[in-house]
Amino acid sequence: MLRWAEIHLDRLVENYKQIKNLSAGKKIIAVVKANAYGHGIKEVAQTLAKHTDVSAFAVATFDEAEELRNIGIARDILVMASPLSEGLDKIKELNAVPVIFDFEDLKLAKELKIPFHIKIDTGMGRLGFLENQWNKLLEELKGTNLKGIMTHFCCADEDKNFTEYQFKEFLSFFQKLKSLNFKNLTIHADNSSAIPFKLNKILTHSRVGIALYGTKPYENYPAELKQVMEVKAKVITTKELPANFPVSYSATYKTKQKEKVAVISFGYADGYLRSFSNKGYVLINDEKCPVRGRVCMDMTIVSSKTAKKGDTVTIFGEKITFEETAKVAGTISYELMCDISPRVKRIYF
Ligand code: PLP
Repeated sequence: MLRWAEIHLDRLVENYKQIKNLSAGKKIIAVVKANAYGHGIKEVAQTLAKHTDVSAFAVATFDEAEELRNIGIARDILVMASPLSEGLDKIKELNAVPVIFDFEDLKLAKELKIPFHIKIDTGMGRLGFLENQWNKLLEELKGTNLKGIMTHFCCADEDKNFTEYQFKEFLSFFQKLKSLNFKNLTIHADNSSAIPFKLNKILTHSRVGIALYGTKPYENYPAELKQVMEVKAKVITTKELPANFPVSYSATYKTKQKEKVAVISFGYADGYLRSFSNKGYVLINDEKCPVRGRVCMDMTIVSSKTAKKGDTVTIFGEKITFEETAKVAGTISYELMCDISPRVKRIYF
């Protein structure tokens, strides 16, 4: 095998336990959209359902909800980022709960008499009802099967004050909603970053993604998380290039002197971003090997003194985390995880 991802499901369960403790009594909604951030929605959801007290799963699309039902997931499923009109044909059969974020869909939910959550936009500017829509919203919610309310924080990883402001906005919507006497609402706002802020007053659930997969959203995050996925490839060949020899497309790198390089079986089609060209590094036999020249579709060339044909290369792992390498490419761990392509075989432990 030339490229694969090792997924450590025991670490997922450990991370879950840490987050559950941090969440101070709130129940957990596990965010498993985008193929569980690239880890495999089936294996991740089945593991959490079997080994934890996870309360619900959150996905982005009705197709993802269907995937969960097809593998026997019986927990609640929240569909967070699709208009209800997209799921009309299967919503009842799936028994999934859509998040409603505009009046068109609210009308549909009312007609269908289905349970749903609503999203309040407290400062994300993406999905949800804005403050100037709340009065109309409260009118329209009368007689519906509202089961939950949520908001989403835009910068909980970097701005606690703004997060607290968003939470206050959310609280003020909740105060208004009280007059409608909905009972047993599921109320959720915090993502991984916000959990340590303990915004507990009304929240019943936390919506957690990245922390489950083992990335700390910021330094000093108060949990010992372990990266669940390790991505590996093989050295296809090695060679010693002469001095002043161009490497890879556009010759953006030229050897200064004789240089030993290894060609590794992992490129941008596998999820190694082209922006790692001349910037990234991988581990071969514990040697930190810098990327030379442009990342190609199926291969990348790295400088290595020790690599031999057939050696295993760690692209992302415990000692070379998504978190730290994302910074090199000016991105975030989320994007690196989601970009690991389907041709990289997932192996589960
Ligand atoms: N809630 C919503 C609406 C999201 O879009 C996401 C992730 O993108 C999450 C929760 C989970 O966030 P995190 O992975 O930072 O915990």
